Parts: sequence; C-alpha cells; structure tokens
Amino acid sequence: MTLHDPNCLFCKIIAGQIPSKKVYEDEELFAFHDIHPWAPVHFLMVPKQHIPSMAQLQPEHAGLVGRMMVLAPQLAAQEGCRPYPQGGFRVMVNTGDDGGQEVHHLHLHVIGGPRPWLKG
Ligand code: 5GP
Ligand code: ZN
Repeated sequence: MTLHDPNCLFCKIIAGQIPSKKVYEDEELFAFHDIHPWAPVHFLMVPKQHIPSMAQLQPEHAGLVGRMMVLAPQLAAQEGCRPYPQGGFRVMVNTGDDGGQEVHHLHLHVIGGPRPWLKG
C-alpha cells in the first residue's frame, strides 16, 4: 500500500496542500474539522499513511487503529463534547460505496455536542 496518494484529498490535507482546521497532529495521525459538520462537534481522524478504507486494514495496523480509538475521546473533550455519560460522542467509519464512503482514505468521524443534532 502506498504511503501517500497524490490524488487523494485527505493526503493533500495532511500535507498542507489543501487548508484545513487542524485539531491534532502527531507522527502517524492527523485530525481536522469536517468541512460540512453535522453537529456542534464534527472532526475527522486519519492515519497519515494512505489506507483507502477499513477494508484494507491488516494485523500490523492494529496499534495504529487502537491509538485512534484511544485518542478520539481525548480530542472529543478538547473540542467541547461534554463528559460521559451525559455527554459523549459518536464515532463512524463509512466503508465502501454501500457504507456511504466518499473519500477513500480511512477516517473516523467523531461527532458530538448537545442533542438534538442527528436522528438515530
Ligand atoms: P465519508 O462520506 O467518506 O465518510 O466522509 C467524508 C467527509 O469528508 C464528509 O463528511 C465531508 O464533509 C468531508 N470533506 C470532504 N471534503 C472535505 C474537505 O475538503 N475538507 C474537509 N475538512 N472535509 C471534507
Ligand atoms: Zn490518502
């Protein structure tokens, strides 16, 4: 799998070629506000490595994905989500056409803020 896809929108955002509102960055992860937020808090977390979707994950990615899961609540709190259990947030990973994925670079949606903001 390529580390960087020059035609990928999120690879361009990670590289700073397309501007974004950054939430977090380290050596392997990047997080930024969704351009069309569904809720008061809506940001995307991506690995810097170009992995097209959850369907391409391999056993060696387990640590990376684990770090994303551990980081999500920390960033959600930083971005204004109230504490669990009254507060909280939703994490979503759209995968493939049937999963509603539009950008083919693995990303976690982290969505929250006081309801109502989304049915379901
Ligand atoms: P998907 O449907 O692939 O799970 O979600 C892709 C998300 O990327 C959408 O929520 C969409 O609003 C967001 N998005 C698309 N283009 C851009 C962009 O140029 N900048 C940012 N920050 N978000 C984008
Ligand atoms: Zn990419």
